Amino acid sequence: MSKKLDAFLEENLTELKDQGLYNEIDPVEGPNGAVIKIGGKDLINLSSNNYLGLATDEGLKKVAIEAIEKYGVGAGAVRTINGTLDLHVQLEEKLAEFKGTEAAISFQSGFNCNMAAISAVMDKNDAILSDQLNHASIIDGCRLSKAKIIAFKHSDMEDLRQKAKEATESGQYNKVMVITDGVFSMDGDIAKLPEIVEIAKEFDLITYVDDAHGSGVTGKGKGTVKHFGLEKEVDMQMGTLSKAVGVVGGYVAGKKQLIDWLRVRSRPFLFSTAVTPGDVAATTAAVQKIIDSTELHDKLWDNGDYLKKGLKELGFDIGDSATPITPCIIGDEKLTQQFSKRLFEEGVYAKSIVFPTVPRGTGRVRNMPTAAHTKEMLDEAIEIYAKVGKELNVIK
Ligand code: PMP
Repeated sequence: MSKKLDAFLEENLTELKDQGLYNEIDPVEGPNGAVIKIGGKDLINLSSNNYLGLATDEGLKKVAIEAIEKYGVGAGAVRTINGTLDLHVQLEEKLAEFKGTEAAISFQSGFNCNMAAISAVMDKNDAILSDQLNHASIIDGCRLSKAKIIAFKHSDMEDLRQKAKEATESGQYNKVMVITDGVFSMDGDIAKLPEIVEIAKEFDLITYVDDAHGSGVTGKGKGTVKHFGLEKEVDMQMGTLSKAVGVVGGYVAGKKQLIDWLRVRSRPFLFSTAVTPGDVAATTAAVQKIIDSTELHDKLWDNGDYLKKGLKELGFDIGDSATPITPCIIGDEKLTQQFSKRLFEEGVYAKSIVFPTVPRGTGRVRNMPTAAHTKEMLDEAIEIYAKVGKELNVIK
């Protein structure tokens, strides 16, 4: 056993704890719905990405169980050997329909999808223009590709344009990509896709949108690219199947040739076992539900507006979210964690988000209302926010 490793862990863990940057994990003892049980206690859950409540949907549970009965619990191999079940093919056809593209490819998670897809398309002769607040999986995917990473200021189109001009005119790079989250999950703001697409056209950039938090939420459920009517303009529409869709996985939708390339060059597709039959079947059914009806989507937005109004009226800083994501920005990391702990004690589960997930000094308690919440639950949560906010001097 290495003494160096022990010393490294001791030193770094202590430092994190001292700075209030060490998050404990609370195991959930039942479904991850509008109410969750943690430590034997029922709490109003404002921390899950289960935007439409589909993670606990009875119909989808049945679909998963039926698929398990028919296929078993595992896919048995990687996609390119014999792990591609007809269920995976059906899912990918459904995703292409959902996103309005020629084809789609699915992966085991959104995280490895970004790692896979970016590095399959970009290489050391290329450059990637990346919004400075892009998700960690985008950053890691960019790093893995070995392309030059050029960060542009968050949603700053002047900065992007300038950097796109410099990168393309320098003649140093073969291909240049612009990559952005569709919805930024820490603040709930939406990327300026029409401007990004304009700049991309001007400089012939590859456009890549990670719509993990937009799919099921924006564009009447069809996502941020659809919201702006840009299905024919964005090269790579990436998304997760773990948030609004409620299950697990990631995907890229785009032109058939792009998907053909990803099938032969994405390393997690080639070297990591396929998603399980129950998950894939439930995912396809969930996507179908989102295509068929906006009922859950409408409820989600209604609940989002309700919670935002309630917290704003109390005097909380909820930022500029343009989606149901409702951050409550506290600032100081320790106070943020204390705030979240007090909410927990009072019956609300709303997790603190601190550095390195968000920049230092912008700690927040992030609230994710869903279609599954009732107004009574939200009223109760707002009351608890008022009590804790006054107690900790965050509001008057
Ligand atoms: N992209 C973004 C923008 C995300 O927020 C997340 C999830 N935190 C991911 C990718 C990764 O998705 P998954 O959880 O499905 O791996």
